Amino acid sequence: MFRVPELPQQKKLKSIAVLTSGGDAPGMNAAVRSVVRWSFQHQIQVHGVSRGYTGLVQDQIEELTPRSVANIIKRGGTEIKTSRCQEFHDPDFRKQAAENLRQRGIEGLIVIGGDGSFTGAHLLHQETGFPVYGVPGTIDNDIAGTDATIGFDTAVNTALQAIDKIRDTANSHDRLFVVEVMGRSSGQIALHVGLAGGAETILVPEDEHDLKSVCAKIEAGVKKGKLTSIIVVAEGNKSGGGHALTEALKSQGHPARACILGHVQRGGDPSAFDRNLASAMGALAAAFLVSGRSSEMIGLQEGVLQSIPFEQVIGQTPALSRELLHLTEDLAI
Ligand code: ADP
Repeated sequence: MFRVPELPQQKKLKSIAVLTSGGDAPGMNAAVRSVVRWSFQHQIQVHGVSRGYTGLVQDQIEELTPRSVANIIKRGGTEIKTSRCQEFHDPDFRKQAAENLRQRGIEGLIVIGGDGSFTGAHLLHQETGFPVYGVPGTIDNDIAGTDATIGFDTAVNTALQAIDKIRDTANSHDRLFVVEVMGRSSGQIALHVGLAGGAETILVPEDEHDLKSVCAKIEAGVKKGKLTSIIVVAEGNKSGGGHALTEALKSQGHPARACILGHVQRGGDPSAFDRNLASAMGALAAAFLVSGRSSEMIGLQEGVLQSIPFEQVIGQTPALSRELLHLTEDLAI
């Protein structure tokens, strides 16, 4: 599945903190548990920060022990909570955050989150010298430098279960369904759910799609005896998402039904893959951070977990696999 490199042996830091930030993702708890337990095993004290950067600015920080993270490996969401913190965009609040950490004797910070959270962490390091380290946790799988983010596999499986159920009813009534999945700027969920669910069409935010070609595809399918079709559309697709596309299809004589999956895709127990990825990433992040590395992220590249500088990650958009998209089209005949 993936390989873990040899861990750095040096331990320069004795006390670190961990927080979860931005959108929650299944598997964040498993990552926190792993940070805490690996650190405890290696005589490093760990604090948990509540509500991401909000708790950092407001000094909501408390010590975590192996017992405080018992039984959370299987839980979705994040027990130490997350937030979107406007104040963290202000350097004065970032300075306050570093002071809060230093006053408690904390020497490094692990941030579990997405691109925005890493941007904040990188700035914190650049401005205050405080060591930070990232763990990619987001259902969108839209972080450069890693082939997988914590939560993506679970979100895809959740959406897939819904599509399988929709296909049962679509099949019974010979219906056309439009299923909207999450993804404001990334089509990763749409692509992987669409391929796994046998979708006839996948509309992603990365591409323009004209209504005519979507209709032509439906009509070509009907001619070939395909009476049931499922179109998977990412919420950020230019068509306007599930409701707008459904209305547009209706206006062209295709009576479609819309199903917006929404926030169910964020919740639920993490899959085995996400628990394993989170467990490995959390421990490695702690090991790299205490060894003296900073402003880097743990990433999965070609099957191996490795430490990637934030400079190669932040603000970059990983490309969607065109090959997979074409494959899906080839299979939807
Ligand atoms: P994600 O980490 O999932 O991409 P967001 O983009 O919402 O989620 O970012 C999470 C938090 O990270 C924000 O609420 C903010 O506190 C912090 N953050 C995001 N971008 C910046 C930035 N440019 N400067 C400082 N902090 C930022």
